Amino acid sequence: MIKFLDLSAINARYEAAFQEKFQQFLKNGSYILGPEVDAFETRFSQYCGTKYTIGISNGLDALILIFKAYMALGKLKPGDEVIVPANTFIASVLAIIHADLKPVFVEPDPETYNIDVSKIETHISSKTRAILVVHLYGQLANMDGINNLAKNHNLLVVEDAAQAQGAKYSNGKRAGNLADAAAFSFYPGKNLGALGDAGAVTTNNKALAKAISELRNYGSEKKYVNTRVGYNKRLDALQAAFLNIKLPDLDADNNERRRVANQYLKGIKNSKIKLPFYDGSENHVFHVFVVQVEDRALFVNYLQSHNVETLIHYPIPPHKQTALHNYAHLKLPITETIHNNVVSIPMSPILSDSDVIKIINILNTY
Ligand SMILES: *Cc1c(COP(=O)(O)O)cnc(C)c1O
Repeated sequence: MIKFLDLSAINARYEAAFQEKFQQFLKNGSYILGPEVDAFETRFSQYCGTKYTIGISNGLDALILIFKAYMALGKLKPGDEVIVPANTFIASVLAIIHADLKPVFVEPDPETYNIDVSKIETHISSKTRAILVVHLYGQLANMDGINNLAKNHNLLVVEDAAQAQGAKYSNGKRAGNLADAAAFSFYPGKNLGALGDAGAVTTNNKALAKAISELRNYGSEKKYVNTRVGYNKRLDALQAAFLNIKLPDLDADNNERRRVANQYLKGIKNSKIKLPFYDGSENHVFHVFVVQVEDRALFVNYLQSHNVETLIHYPIPPHKQTALHNYAHLKLPITETIHNNVVSIPMSPILSDSDVIKIINILNTY
């Protein structure tokens, strides 16, 4: 079986470094925040080009804390509307709802799968205060268009950069440095993955960074002095230590992912399979390689019978989930078609050429 993503093989590359780090960690006796979290925050800021990184427990919490911090600073209030792509992983929407804000769904561009900027304006009301943009599948959204619109309407822009670590926009800036604030996830399967849950917020806004670093730690800057109604949503120190070991390889891994994607794009020639749009630049880090087919169940079974593992990102759109039944009435046909037809084929920085060629041949004989 060619695995969709072989996480244990990806992490096996670091086995010796992880074990050495763990020995140190055990001896050190410092298990919460501390030097590994500080080092990761400094390095990830350098990497993204932002002034601040705040290590957070996971990607969903990172999104929630951005919104909660804007509330604490008086920039948002309960009931405000946030524009969000209808075509996203549900966490983007959950964060808005957990912060007592209201999601307003906008259809994607059917080629890039990212929010269709030309459809945002008709959804802006007197209550709209922010746009949450998602760089879906690892491809950056049209940030020039979104930031212009936001400027004209005085809206905050937050990036959900969970799938786009390292992606570079046409201006040379990276994901995480393209809006007012960004949330990252380092869930094990992400391009930069921890060995458990982990996340971060990046921003250039000092007041926001301070509010988030307080909110993640019981609302306190100084131990036992609580200035805000905070949470415990800190980045785990051991996960930070693992991330410090892996971060230097992120660019090389993303290059490998693009190499695999280019092989797929060149090699797959089958009119039944719609390939993803890619402009050839570094604005895509191919978190996943998503194709569309009309008879998905058949296609997935065919690949399974040829020992190729696939996943679906995602089978049910957020507005059709039971949890979000209040939004079930919405008509979002582009989003629904995408969710019906997408299939993700194997993609990873360590996929061998021989496996890539095998997969291409299997797809071409479908
Ligand atoms: C993974 C992901 C999240 C959530 O991150 P967790 O660390 O799993 O909480 C949010 N948004 C998107 C787009 C994601 O892919």
